[in-house]
Formats: sequence, C-alpha cells, structure tokens
Amino acid sequence: MKILIVEDEVRLALALKKLLEKKKYLVDYVTDGLSGFEYANTGLYDLIILDIMLPKMDGIEVLKNLRSLKFTMPILMLTAKDEIENKVVGLDTGADDYMTKPFSTEELLARVRALLRRKGEIIDDVLTYEGVSLNLKKSMLVSETDSIKLPLKEFQIFEMLIANPEQIISKDRIIEKIWGSDSEVEFNNVEVYISFLRKKLQYLGTGVKIKTARGIGYSLGIIK
Ligand code: CA
Repeated sequence: MKILIVEDEVRLALALKKLLEKKKYLVDYVTDGLSGFEYANTGLYDLIILDIMLPKMDGIEVLKNLRSLKFTMPILMLTAKDEIENKVVGLDTGADDYMTKPFSTEELLARVRALLRRKGEIIDDVLTYEGVSLNLKKSMLVSETDSIKLPLKEFQIFEMLIANPEQIISKDRIIEKIWGSDSEVEFNNVEVYISFLRKKLQYLGTGVKIKTARGIGYSLGIIK
C-alpha cells in the first residue's frame, strides 16, 4: 500500500513517514499543496494524508481538485486545533476522515488501517486469492499447508499482484511504485524478485502462479 503525505511541517512529515514505513507502507511526502496535487494525480497512491494549511495550494483545494478528477482514494485530512471549521468544509468536499493536531501515532495508524480497509482491498489485514493469502501485518505468504515470511521487496511486489489478481501489472508500474520513478532499477531486478516469489509459491504447494506477459509485466493466476 502506498501513501502520500502532504504536510509542510517537515518534522511532522518525516515522523509520519518513519512511522508508516515501520508498518510496511510505502511512503512519499511533499511539503506544499501543488506538489501534493501533482503527486496524487499520478494515481499511484492508495491513501493520502493531507494537511489543510499548506503553501502554494491549500489542502481543501487539493482535495476538491482530486475529487473533481474522480480520484476515489481515501483522504485523511489533518487540521490544526484552531481550524475546526475547516473540518466541516473538508468533509463536505469529500475527505474521508480528519484528525486534529496533535494526535497520537496509534490513533493515526488505526485511522489509516480503517480507511484502507474501507477501500475494499483488505479484510483483517489479509489479501487472499485462490487459497493463497498474504498477511499484511506479518509479511507472511500463506497456503493451505504452509507459510513463509517474505523479505520486504518480495512482499511489496506480491502485494501489488494479489491486490489485483488476474490483471497484468507492468514492470514499469512495479518499479515506479516500489523503487520510485527516478530510480535506476533495471527490469532484471524485478525479474529476480519474481523468480524468488515463484519458488516460494511452488514450495508452498499452491495452485497459484505468477504468469509472465512477455514484454509487459506479470499477473497472478492459477495453474491450468
Ligand atoms: Ca500546515
């Protein structure tokens, strides 16, 4: 799951990034509203944490613009204590939830989990397809007979595949989402992780496999 933080208080943004990364989310942050809008507009994020008072474009404006472009990702607004009226505006404009600063990290994590769950992809922090499950909390790949813990990159790639089973996920998209668009990761690196994952699926004795769409990417499917 990839999260965008739009927050001009750099220390808070960094603290949130660190906290969320600890919980295995992929996190980018930007410190002004215009960049926030541009990043969100890529459609790469599953959730946006959006401050209201921001330079260049305020959070309400960012939110309005995204919703008018039909982006449906959950958006959690952050407000300072003296901006209570903004909450009402924010929710009217299509925010899914809001929190008043300062907030506890536990509460933030609970809200993030709830919003991602509401998105319909996660039930009890487990993604399942044809007898194979990915436990998002424990990074465990689980079959009916066995389980195995996945290292971070394998976990992140498999999460993309199992969240969209039987759909081709392009190598570009995998690289962009996991390493970032300005990274120098080669296609071969992705192939290496895919081959590790294939071996693990086989080891677990599942009927699920990662299929190659030649020259495009990969999809999760069942062995016929
Ligand atoms: Ca602010």
